[in-house]
Amino acid sequence: MSRQTPVGLPEGYTDFYKNLEYWQNEQEIKLKQGYVGENIDVLKMLANNPKNVMKQHRFNIDPRHLKATYLALVEFLSSNRPLDSKVWDSLRQAGDKLDFANVAAILLSDDQSYFTELAEALEIPFELLLFTVDHALRPYLRMFAQPYYEQFNQTDFVFWNQAAICPFCGSKSHFSRLRGEDGKRFMFCDRCFTEWESRSIYCVHCGNDEPNSINYISVENDNGYQLYTCEKCKGYLKTYDERQTGKTTDLFIANIETIYLDLLAKEKGYVNHDID
Ligand SMILES: [Zn+2]
Ligand SMILES: [Zn+2]
Repeated sequence: MSRQTPVGLPEGYTDFYKNLEYWQNEQEIKLKQGYVGENIDVLKMLANNPKNVMKQHRFNIDPRHLKATYLALVEFLSSNRPLDSKVWDSLRQAGDKLDFANVAAILLSDDQSYFTELAEALEIPFELLLFTVDHALRPYLRMFAQPYYEQFNQTDFVFWNQAAICPFCGSKSHFSRLRGEDGKRFMFCDRCFTEWESRSIYCVHCGNDEPNSINYISVENDNGYQLYTCEKCKGYLKTYDERQTGKTTDLFIANIETIYLDLLAKEKGYVNHDID
């Protein structure tokens, strides 16, 4: 059963993401058959070079395989989201146009002009094209990242100097949890599901650690979900505090379900520094 959120989400919104996550899990299970993770000491790798693991090591994706996953995702979405049939046709056409050998590296880079140009040519919204590529890739990213989850989870891995950036795939994180047993903060990447420790009284955007300028806001009757804000850079971070509820939660869904915290943060003048 879905939890009651303080601010109502559109009908079926959370269920859509739950179904999508379920679909991605199924894809990942299929992909994992016959996949053997490579033995890499990722902490040592990052100690020698601050670039994220996927930039330093090439994880191979068979382009034909990814194309099949992409088209399967478009079919999954088309049966879950009512949109003009023309849009789905254009997204299927994107399956013939996308450069599947390089699309992962392009998505994880800062330059998204490849997607803006393709979206324009296909006359579909850029966000929609990006969404389909992003979500088709996630089962692969999770499969590649999983063998290293434990290494990143070690509490002595705190040297990462860009605390909001995933050390495995380089994506920006918008969500963290405070661990039940000791209150330590772990950042969460919703693309590859890697978690890594960050200091508790600390702004993951600018590195500010002055206790007086880091605050937190929670919503009445919803103490498990908090907003950490920084007065120095006006950044915010959503957080799930396991100590408040005594249990863990699906952080991917928690991030989706707490859009009201994003709205609240923006209303109060805070930003998630996505653009700069
Ligand atoms: Zn990641
Ligand atoms: Zn800050």
